[in-house]
Amino acid sequence: MGGEKEETSSKPAFDVGAASELVGKLRGAFASGKTRSYQWRESQLKGLLKMTEEHEQEIADALHSDLAKPELESYIYEAAMLKNSCRLALKELKRWMVPEKAKTSLTTFPSSAEIVPEPLGVVLIISAWNYPYLLSLDPVVGAIAAGNALVLKPSEIAPATSSLLAKLMGEYLDTSCIRVVEGAVPETTALLEQKWDKIFYTGNGKIGRIIMAAAAKHLTPVALELGGKSPVVVDSGIDLKVSCRRIIAGKWGCNNGQACISPDYVITTREHAPKVVDALKQELEKFYGKNPLESKDLSRIVNSNHFFRLSKLLDDDKVSGKVVHGGEKDQSKLRIAPTLLLDVPRDALIMQEEIFGPLLPILTVDKIEDSFDVINSGMKPLAAYLFTNNKKLREEFVMSVSAGGLVVNDTTVHLAILSLPFGGVGESGIGAYHGKFSFDAFSHKKAVVYRGFMGDAAIRYPPYTKMKLRL
Ligand code: NAD
Repeated sequence: MGGEKEETSSKPAFDVGAASELVGKLRGAFASGKTRSYQWRESQLKGLLKMTEEHEQEIADALHSDLAKPELESYIYEAAMLKNSCRLALKELKRWMVPEKAKTSLTTFPSSAEIVPEPLGVVLIISAWNYPYLLSLDPVVGAIAAGNALVLKPSEIAPATSSLLAKLMGEYLDTSCIRVVEGAVPETTALLEQKWDKIFYTGNGKIGRIIMAAAAKHLTPVALELGGKSPVVVDSGIDLKVSCRRIIAGKWGCNNGQACISPDYVITTREHAPKVVDALKQELEKFYGKNPLESKDLSRIVNSNHFFRLSKLLDDDKVSGKVVHGGEKDQSKLRIAPTLLLDVPRDALIMQEEIFGPLLPILTVDKIEDSFDVINSGMKPLAAYLFTNNKKLREEFVMSVSAGGLVVNDTTVHLAILSLPFGGVGESGIGAYHGKFSFDAFSHKKAVVYRGFMGDAAIRYPPYTKMKLRL
């Protein structure tokens, strides 16, 4: 079994000693060369795929227990996406592993050169609770494809999925090289004291800083998949119904707004705002009915801490009177209705931090072009969206807005295109993954030059005569 369980006593079952022992064992397994072979990588990727195919219902049940995640969302955004990643890696792995020829220079003539991808070694993957199956295993696909041994630390905030991952990975994968450590801060801290060859972390930026500081002690490279406030700019002259459906799908249809690339706020013109609000209200009612707190098609808020955090954003004096739709809450069921807020002040709490929930502020500007200044005045978001029919505006958006990824006339769909890198910029993250980018994230690109004994130019050797200088 790969799972290391948390004990109820004050001393964690998994402490620094246990972490050091585990890393030692994995280092031994990596040093044996086992993980480097194509056959090992292929067998582990097949194991992950099989595990997901054979346990789809259990995965959906765990996600329902952790988040009341609707079954269709569990299937599309967790199981199916993971299967796609596995299938792509299995299809492309041989090609990814082949060294890439590189041009040589006159100075080294005659020679040949290539870039050889090599595994980094023993890596640590720490994941978050909102897509706890996909976000745990998608980096694992990259780490395995690149030939690494690894430890996965799933989020304790999604305990059912965490324990399912520990159980299934112990059954389907090679536990001499791939291990799961369950637990919270003490266990993660014990893991972070060890020397890793890479740490891949998904979560918020505050903890991201702790991860980076721990990694710095050993000069360990990191990938930090963080979040931010992802804006949606809504121009006039568009198909507003389709646009609002796509905004809703990216916001409430993605774990009830608890997704890293969910629209965080909308910007539109003062003139256009009433139409946007009306269209959003209409489509929201069609999707979730008149009493969305009872809707089975919306995830709940993950736990009471996050429920109170979101309640605080909503109950802030600065946003009172700004709710134009929704606002209902049910603390006993951890439910908050899809909520629209119009013209919230920029210094309100809700505009100061990532919302990560079902609240959607709508900001207004005089001219739609002003939206880009609003976006660029904040921290660089993980995603930014624009709905427009205006080619010039679209070009300006692409050229002037810096974000992890951009989508024009839809939201969140870039996540599903595995030929695109997925990651942040600035405060929304460091590094990227998905598809081949995942393989690269866990590989070192080794520069290799091959020479024979011919063409041994005397110019490089002393004595450094004046004549050699003139050549
Ligand atoms: P979380 O609470 O599950 O924390 C993430 C991980 O950090 C967990 O495994 C947790 O055990 C660990 N952790 C918590 N405190 C720690 C500490 N003091 N020391 C070491 N490890 C610690 O998840 P979260 O941070 O609430 O996740 C939500 C955030 O993640 C949002 O900001 C969201 O935008 C971001 N996110 C980003 C992506 C992405 O792909 N870029 C995906 C999902 C979520």
